[in-house]
Order: sequence, then structure tokens, then C-alpha cells
Amino acid sequence: MVERIYLDSAASTPVADEVIQEMLPYLKQQFGNPSSIHSFGRETTRAIQQARRRVADLIGAKPSEITFTSGGTEADNLAVKGAAEYAKSALGKRHVITSYIEHDAVLEPCRDLERLGYDVNYLPVTAQGSVRPEDLKGALTKNTALVSVMHANNEVGTIQPVKELCRIAHKAGALFHTDAVQAAGKIPVDAKDLAVDLLSMSSHKINGPKGAGALYIRHGLDIMPLIHGGGQESELRSGTENVPGIVGFGKACELAAKNLAAYQKHVSELRDYLIGKVSQEIAHSRLNGSTISRLPANAHFTFFGVNGEDLIIKLDENDIAASTGSACSVKKQKPSHVLKAMGFSYEEITGSLRLTLSMQNTKEEIDRTVAVLSSIVRELRALSPFKSKYT
Ligand code: PLP
Repeated sequence: MVERIYLDSAASTPVADEVIQEMLPYLKQQFGNPSSIHSFGRETTRAIQQARRRVADLIGAKPSEITFTSGGTEADNLAVKGAAEYAKSALGKRHVITSYIEHDAVLEPCRDLERLGYDVNYLPVTAQGSVRPEDLKGALTKNTALVSVMHANNEVGTIQPVKELCRIAHKAGALFHTDAVQAAGKIPVDAKDLAVDLLSMSSHKINGPKGAGALYIRHGLDIMPLIHGGGQESELRSGTENVPGIVGFGKACELAAKNLAAYQKHVSELRDYLIGKVSQEIAHSRLNGSTISRLPANAHFTFFGVNGEDLIIKLDENDIAASTGSACSVKKQKPSHVLKAMGFSYEEITGSLRLTLSMQNTKEEIDRTVAVLSSIVRELRALSPFKSKYT
């Protein structure tokens, strides 16, 4: 039987063995509610404290600055809506700035804020998917409560100039949030060095379990909670804590910090090998996104004259898992808003394919993938009404 090849690590990753081992006791004998006073409760409270330290260490924060959530989506919602609601009630500010290429976990809360009477500006991006600092300068007003720009894009992998954008936002008296779901654990991310006020993270992108994430909230910053109840997580996120998920997320952060240099080396070498092979072996193909400021595991291509969805189905038939971009937007059946914002034509968007790598991928897998991809592209182009253009 042929081994399946997984090239969709930006969508999700397998839970590491060490992570599973740490989680297991909290699914069995250590099941106490962390809010309970007895020893069962104290054991799980200690486990959460340890996880909070590990998550904080990954991004150079203090444990007290970490609020656990159900994942990246909830962290983004809490950051955007929680900061905007607080700024409105405390300062009367009702203006938010974000970018056109954010994940829906930021865009949808922003749209909700618009329905609630806030003004939201969406910043454009360059053809490589980068937000221009001068565009942010031009959009800021005295009324701007919050700027939210992602650390790295989930589709094309472009890393944003977060530190510079944050400095500009602060100069104008606005808070700065960054969605670091695709960055934390994959490139060095230091909340203090970036000087951001809020930063979102997710566990399942870094070999932790699904359904766990965190929001970094700079010490001293007040935001409004979205979920009300028993007052867990310093009143910011009520609900009995997902102890096994939090423990697993903590361990995943510890491993990511320990393995960061080896991870970056392995995936970036493999990515460059993949990019080189595709450009040599598949005519009328193009790498999208930045060649300089790019996530080490991301390769995003357009194959002219083919449909990306057809490519994914055919790759899947050949036991290779890939994606056109965000797993979430596939359900919505919309063309990528990220590629649209980068100025791509309909043809450039439909022919797009994202391959994202991990420590588990090998050069042999890349060789097989490019060989299969090359033959599928040829086959699909032969069926295309534009075949004379690309064959
Ligand atoms: N933000 C970005 C940039 C993402 O890539 C994702 C997931 O794909 C999310 C937020 C949502 O994270 P989660 O799946 O943990 O809710």
C-alpha cells in the first residue's frame, strides 16, 4: 500500500506523542474541576498553571498575560470585539482597522462590529500580500480603538511587518492585535519585542490538540469578555477549563520552542526544494506570495489553465493531501478573498494550490508529489478549453 502524503499542515497537524502522554492523566484519573477546592481540583489547577507558563514562554510573555480559549477563532473574536467594546465604553472610540487578507476569525467579528455601529477600515495589500505601513498611517484617526493585522497569512504565508505596524498604531493612540495562529511556534514570535497589546494563538497548528488556544493580553490592558458565567480565566473567559486540551497545548508550545530552529531548517529546505522542482518541471506555474518574508513551511502556486479544486481531488486520489488555501473558506465555496486582495485575476485564483510542510515530510515525498502533480496538470490542461495556450 502507498503511504499517504500530508501537505496541509497549515490546516492542522497530528498531536505529538509527548503531547498525548501529558494529556492522558487529565482524561482519566486527574479529572477534577479546577474550580474545586479539594485535591482533585488543586491538581488540575496546577496543570493549568504549568501550561500557562509554557504558552507564555513560547511568545516571551508572562503567564498572567495568557487567557486560554477554545482556539484561534475564539482568541481572535475576544481580541477584536473585547478590545473594541472596551474602547467604546471607556473612551468613546468606535473605529477599527484591519486588512482585507485576515482570516475569517477576524473579518467576521469586524463585520459584526460594523452591524453594531462601528466604522471598520480594511487595508489593501501588495501583490505579495503585504500590508503597507503608509496605508495604515493614512487610515488611523483619533477615533481608532484597535488595529488588527495578522502576523503571517494562512494562504500565501506572507509575514507582515507587525513590529512597524504596531509602532504606527501606538503613535496614533490605538491598540494593536495580531493573529499569530500561523506564526507562533513556526517562526520566532516575541510579544514584548513586537510590543503588541493582543496576540492570538492556536494549539492544533503546532501538534497540539484541537479546541485549545490562547489570547495574550498585555499586562494592564482591559478588554470586555465575550462569554459570561463562573468567572474562570480572570473573568475573561467563563466556563470550566478544557484541562486536557490546555495541558496538551502547553506541552505543544514547549516542544515548539525547543524544536523551532530544527523545524525552520527542515521545512524551509524542503520548501525551497519543492519550489525549485515545480518551477523546473511544470511549465506555466508560478509561486505566489513573498519570496523574502514568508513562512518557512508554505509554498503557494498558481498552475495556469487548471482548476485548483480539480487538482486537490486528483491529488487526493493519489494519496496526497493538499489545499487551495483556507480550510474554512472551502465550506463557504467562495473564491479566496486573500488572492483577490492581492489583485489576482479569476484564472490566477482558480488555478491556485497551497502545499504546507512539516517535520514529518521528506524529500522523497516531495519528489513523488511533484511527479504526480506534473502528470495531473498535464492531464487537466489537455481537457481544458484553453489547452492550446498551455500545452
Ligand atoms: N487565524 C488563522 C490565521 C488561521 O489560519 C486559523 C485556522 O486556520 C484561525 C485563525 C482559526 O484557528 P482555530 O482553528 O484554532 O479556530
